[in-house]
Amino acid sequence: MTADRPLLNRRLAEFGTTIFAEMSQLAVETGAINLGQGFPDTDGPAPVLEAARRAIAEGRGNQYPPGPGIPELRRAVAAHREHWYGLVYDPDREVLVTAGATEAIAAAMLALLEPGDEVIALEPYYDSYAACIAMAGARRVPVTLRPVGDRFVLDLDELRDAVTPRTRLILLNTPHNPTGAVLPPEQLAEIARLCVERDLLAVTDEVYEHLVFDGAVHQSLASLPGMRERTVAISSAGKTFSVTGWKVGWVCASPALTTAVRTAKQFLTYVSAGPFQYAVAEALALPDAYFTAFTADLQAKRDLLAAALADAGFGVMRTQGTYFLTADIRPLGLPGPEGADGEAFCRALPHRAGVVAIPSQVFYDHRAAGAPYVRFAFCKRPEVLAEAASRLKALAH
Ligand SMILES: *Cc1c(COP(=O)(O)O)cnc(C)c1O
Repeated sequence: MTADRPLLNRRLAEFGTTIFAEMSQLAVETGAINLGQGFPDTDGPAPVLEAARRAIAEGRGNQYPPGPGIPELRRAVAAHREHWYGLVYDPDREVLVTAGATEAIAAAMLALLEPGDEVIALEPYYDSYAACIAMAGARRVPVTLRPVGDRFVLDLDELRDAVTPRTRLILLNTPHNPTGAVLPPEQLAEIARLCVERDLLAVTDEVYEHLVFDGAVHQSLASLPGMRERTVAISSAGKTFSVTGWKVGWVCASPALTTAVRTAKQFLTYVSAGPFQYAVAEALALPDAYFTAFTADLQAKRDLLAAALADAGFGVMRTQGTYFLTADIRPLGLPGPEGADGEAFCRALPHRAGVVAIPSQVFYDHRAAGAPYVRFAFCKRPEVLAEAASRLKALAH
């Protein structure tokens, strides 16, 4: 009977509602500026929005599109990857369209893992990783990014030590949410060597591939020696084109890996987002100038918020990519738990300063390592960031 056992199964028991729901609710109740969840408050480029409207009006994609995705989008994904990274994928056998990167990650975990397998992921991690690994019956093994000066840094020795005979794959996210770290080329090369040496698969979450700053460049792990055939590369239109509600993502991988991921994907959503697939195919072919202008705009927003946080007295960690800045609350010198515990701090911040942030510790297994950090999203209009900046001054004394 249901009374004898919990309704939610053991694999998912540890996953309650996400912190985003609680913090967004708090934002609504208090009228605070929500810099918690990472979505832009302006929509993507007008021609791309128009392309979606046109597809619907012309009856393209209103019925089930093909299982692997429409050919136009698969060709556009392959062309984009070749243009930016020099990596050649066959649009028919090596590209799979998914319901956002989220479904691609879920399908990859469900397809590639056996119960008891271990998956290494950088901590703090994107919140769906732990749940997807758990749904596959596998075990997550976090490797913590450590603060060194004003950066979060991967310790390669810690990564090497985390590999065991049960390790099946490394789930790698760079540019990294939430820390904004971009792994340097020499570390990617080491990770590639480790994967080859220990015969590991790699699943790379590259949704922020175009959101890199200060002249840093994104490199796909798949471009390194021995990695093309063992990497499931995942990306998505949401972040690159400011259309997070469209949920159009994709996988690029060898035919064998693509087939495996598609086997799981076809029973999750089967297909999705028909007209949006046509629009994203056009978006991916935008001239380079779109991508560079978008990145420059976002970098200016990062600078605006970083300066505001520093003025307010936070310790500001350096962000090289993504939508997010991580701040250390300890330099604010607030009394009580708010002084060093991000969760207590974030619950009080809407009342104290009319701004919502997310406590980084919810993205950690080793919560203590993330306790003093909070995450702010800067993908907002300049006037919203300016208002947040003036409100945050209330924290300075
Ligand atoms: C936003 C995000 C995703 C999800 O992408 P969708 O295309 O919206 O599903 C995946 N990974 C990371 C790191 C993200 O920040």
